[in-house]
Amino acid sequence: MPAFRAPRGTHDLLPADRAAFARLEAIADDLTDRYGYRQIETPLFEQAAVFERGLGEVTDVVEKELFRIAPRSDEGEIWAHVQHGMQTWPQPVKLTMTGPMFRYDRPQAGRYRQFWQFDVEAIGDPGPAIDAEIVELAMRFYAEAGLGEVELLLNSIGDEACRPGYVDELAAYYRRHLDELPQTERARLERSPLRLLDSKDPAMVELNAGAPVITDHLCGLCAEHFAGVRAHLDALGLAYRLEPRLVRGLDYYTRTAFEVYPAGAGGQQSAVGGGGRYDGLVQLLGGRPTPGIGFGIGLDRVHLALDQAGVPKAPEPSPLAVVVSADPAATVERLRIATVLRAEGLRARADLGVRKLGRQIEGAARDGAHFAVIVGDELAAGDVRLKDLQAGTQRTVPLEGLTRELRRASASHRHGEKGRG
Ligand code: AMP
Repeated sequence: MPAFRAPRGTHDLLPADRAAFARLEAIADDLTDRYGYRQIETPLFEQAAVFERGLGEVTDVVEKELFRIAPRSDEGEIWAHVQHGMQTWPQPVKLTMTGPMFRYDRPQAGRYRQFWQFDVEAIGDPGPAIDAEIVELAMRFYAEAGLGEVELLLNSIGDEACRPGYVDELAAYYRRHLDELPQTERARLERSPLRLLDSKDPAMVELNAGAPVITDHLCGLCAEHFAGVRAHLDALGLAYRLEPRLVRGLDYYTRTAFEVYPAGAGGQQSAVGGGGRYDGLVQLLGGRPTPGIGFGIGLDRVHLALDQAGVPKAPEPSPLAVVVSADPAATVERLRIATVLRAEGLRARADLGVRKLGRQIEGAARDGAHFAVIVGDELAAGDVRLKDLQAGTQRTVPLEGLTRELRRASASHRHGEKGRG
């Protein structure tokens, strides 16, 4: 057992995992480009005061999740919006960011202190059409990532006009059942009755089933907005389940709230993404009142879910050619040839180890290389031997035209494979 391990709640991405993440990032980049979102990068850490003064008073969740060393969250994008006066940009401002996020929380399966998020925000459009577009973009991400079976849960959590009345009624309901409440929930009741609704404590299931639901308490404008979101989703042919007990963790969320789960997943930590409208947030952070909506998709969880669904990992790239030699002293020649191939844009590696030629060729085949370039006595005449590891053939070619030869041979081989198929 090594003496030091990754810090609690963090994990290393080994090359195969990193390649899988890179594929997810590439899908995210391609999608957001098609939908007109522009990339942004915010600092890995932020001033604690942004959270403490800006958000800390309105929520206990932020206090719990604040990572004192290196906080970064999707609020960072809204903070950037306020700082850079993006309300004067063409509206809505559509931003996207993919990278590590930090949350100080109790780690468990699928819940990390450092995790990767693909994040999208549309700031400056009150909806409801943009709400549907954002949800559809999220759903397309799962589809393109190969996670076909996911369930979309949808709710509206009202706004400052209708939510307070609902929360009062909800709190009154729980107070009538105080003796049935577990201790931890009792403590949360006065601070944040809404949080009791998505409690996963088994003792709460029955109680919550009888609790009043927000959708019976929406004001006229919120009800109209919610109907609009559903009409647009229906028109796009997107299936969803209405879940009136779905609430978002932070108090600045308004109206549309959604979460996505892998099909059949019941666990609390299995949401592969979620988002919602936050019409109060820009103002809360010191900007002019500006509506906004966004989502975050947890790439670690998408990666896990793909694994669990048995979706094969994308193969890691293999070299086109490996340069080998029977002469252990010929490392300069091997390196020089590989360097030229790489400078010309090919994926090539030199075997620089001291081992038998046969072992070097085996190593190249194990790497998935298409060719071995064998450096031997022919080099004096300006030639090398080119071994096609897939076809099992070998011939002598002039070093001069090696790049062209490799390109031509690999193209015709691929063509041949297709023809056989
Ligand atoms: P949230 O804004 O909390 O709904 O987060 C959006 C998504 O990010 C979640 O649905 C998860 O997929 C992912 N996520 C959030 N927190 C974590 C975490 N601690 N570890 C791994 N993934 C997370």
